[in-house]
Amino acid sequence: MTTTADYNADLQLFIAGAWRSGEGRDVAPVYNPATGAPIAELPVATAADLDEALGAADRAWPLWRAKTPDERAALMHKAAGIIRERIEPIATLLTLEQGKPIAEARGEVASAAGLLAYFAEEGKRIEGRVLQRPAGQRTMVLKQPVGPAAGFSPWNFPVNLMVKKIAPALAAGCVVIAKAPEETPGCTSAIMRCLDDAGIPAGVAQLVYGVPDMISRHLLASPVIRKVSFTGSTAVGKHLMRLAADGVKRITMELGGHAPVLIFDDCDLEATLDRVVWQKFRNAGQVCISPTRFYVQEGIYDAFVKGFAERTAKVKIGSGLDADTQMGPLANKRRAPALEAMIADAKAKGARVVAGGEATGEGYFFQPTALADVPLDADAMNNEPFGPMALMRPFGSEEEALEQANRLPYGLAAFAFTENGRRINRIVDGIESGMVGVNSFVISTPDAPFGGIKESGFGSESGPEGLESYLVTKAVHIY
Ligand code: NAD
Repeated sequence: MTTTADYNADLQLFIAGAWRSGEGRDVAPVYNPATGAPIAELPVATAADLDEALGAADRAWPLWRAKTPDERAALMHKAAGIIRERIEPIATLLTLEQGKPIAEARGEVASAAGLLAYFAEEGKRIEGRVLQRPAGQRTMVLKQPVGPAAGFSPWNFPVNLMVKKIAPALAAGCVVIAKAPEETPGCTSAIMRCLDDAGIPAGVAQLVYGVPDMISRHLLASPVIRKVSFTGSTAVGKHLMRLAADGVKRITMELGGHAPVLIFDDCDLEATLDRVVWQKFRNAGQVCISPTRFYVQEGIYDAFVKGFAERTAKVKIGSGLDADTQMGPLANKRRAPALEAMIADAKAKGARVVAGGEATGEGYFFQPTALADVPLDADAMNNEPFGPMALMRPFGSEEEALEQANRLPYGLAAFAFTENGRRINRIVDGIESGMVGVNSFVISTPDAPFGGIKESGFGSESGPEGLESYLVTKAVHIY
């Protein structure tokens, strides 16, 4: 992957064990978000391509599920090893296409290898139950693979989120058609090549790109697909849930968030500020669990706002390929106008911009931005900004903080910073979200369930729960 020509040629669909180029297909441009320049053309899957992928998945499933967990694990570990050997070139592609700093990209690629390794082992622990019956009789509860799955993953963590769908599917004995994001196809193709080079049989893991709505309608209309996993916006998730309902397909929906962060006056203010500012601007805030609504206890509010603004102004933005860059560009062009409209709306309603607030430079760069005194009716306080924007408000009591945290239909991640143990228990019990970080933002690990409640989603990825979502239950009564 050394030249532009190689990069362009490597962007292919992977169907039925064969790589398909753009010949005879429409193509879509791929852009470098750091410059805004087109860098490649991506072949777009046709209806015939999708039918071929469905046929291949249907043929591959009985063969893949017939393998032993050890055989599946061996192939997954081999793929994980190849990914680890290729961290540098894959991370470079990820940064080129998505914009994030190269250190973050390396961590993401390594995490994909970690997911494959985790699920390879977890797949060996799929167990059922045998129930008590009179002598000579048995009732067994079996866990079996649900069948061919379709996985739709987005552009903010293109490598990690695609593998979060592939790894548990393969471990469970399912086959999977991945629809990866069109914005960042080189890094996801490179991951699929690792699976191919590890010897994953034809049709077990396939990769398509194209017009998202056309692909999801086509795949979800097919009786071959028994499971749908989607990561993206709540609006698209609801649309896919409706399509899945027609075929009563199993779903996992990892949708939008609007994470509250409750900062209590007993926290270590300076250490907390260092962590929250770094976390807010990780991946330019394009993170579904990004800390976004900062509710800060009255006594420390002014100091928090000042400290946040000072640190935000120092975040170094630039090309993700430069080693000292702390925040890269936005991943696509459409986010900047959306953020600017939210900032204008918040200002008009009385918010103060204490840092940043504008698109800047060439490409899709946006200043790290912090707003104070943001009123509850500001658009940004109600809809996910999905960008480098922090919103701050003071609160008085713990009850008020919890009420504010829970006021939105989202319930993905929530965070609290306090040293008070009794309060921690009350917050953990009272907060409406699928994940809670207390004095920490580390909430995404291979072994822990990742997912939301309310309109943030349905089901979990990662952990045993993530594997379970690719399994169906069969009760067998033997007399
Ligand atoms: P979007 O809703 O247009 O797309 C989100 C993702 O869904 C993209 O990857 C897109 O390719 C895919 N998609 C869109 N329509 C689809 C369809 N009919 N079938 C299958 N896939 C489809 O939004 P966007 O402008 O790309 O991203 C911004 C919004 O998306 C954010 O506000 C955020 O809520 C959400 N988002 C969430 C996550 C997450 O990790 N939960 C990731 C990316 C985007």
